[in-house]
Amino acid sequence: MPDRQEKLQDWNRRWRFIGELIRCTACGQDQLYRDSRVPFPHKANCPEFEHKGQLPWLDLEVILRRSLE
Ligand SMILES: [Zn+2]
Repeated sequence: MPDRQEKLQDWNRRWRFIGELIRCTACGQDQLYRDSRVPFPHKANCPEFEHKGQLPWLDLEVILRRSLE
């Protein structure tokens, strides 16, 4: 499914998965899994800051689940 590959690459451009946390590649802010349902806390000067309500943990979960179907 090429769509999944693209989504995963896009995810990898924006985020780093580091153990128990996900980090924004642009501003370096972290988010723990326990906050996975809270919008990602970008720094105010982050280019991704305008994208309100990002949920990278859930995005990754959806991408990976689809890959197993
Ligand atoms: Zn950011």
